Amino acid sequence: MPKAVQQFVCSNCGFTVSRWQGKCPECESWNTFAKQAPAIHAALSGVSAQPVRLHAAGFVRVERISTGMAELDLVLGGGLVPGSLVLLGGDPGIGKSTLALQTALYMSKAASSVLYISGEESAEQIKL
Ligand SMILES: [Zn+2]
Repeated sequence: MPKAVQQFVCSNCGFTVSRWQGKCPECESWNTFAKQAPAIHAALSGVSAQPVRLHAAGFVRVERISTGMAELDLVLGGGLVPGSLVLLGGDPGIGKSTLALQTALYMSKAASSVLYISGEESAEQIKL
């Protein structure tokens, strides 16, 4: 079943947030957030799995991919695991997007290509 996701957009700068806020963290304007028509996100489907006891699970050593930033690699246990998903969490303005974009920049220089997907910021905000 598709899930509707509510978003609020700053009428002054276009910054997008998932919950209404009185002050825009981007342009610092007050009371500029307005509800945006909900986006539809398709749910995962067709995925099934059976529970496995850990003692029965195998161990595979995986070659990790360096992010180009030694401290981030350290936090990730040696780099990114191919095919994995990393969730960046933190307060608004703490630097999650900056870290993600910096990682994309470093990895694009080392790898052939990087796909940057954002569910919160517009392409124009990312380009800025
Ligand atoms: Zn704003």
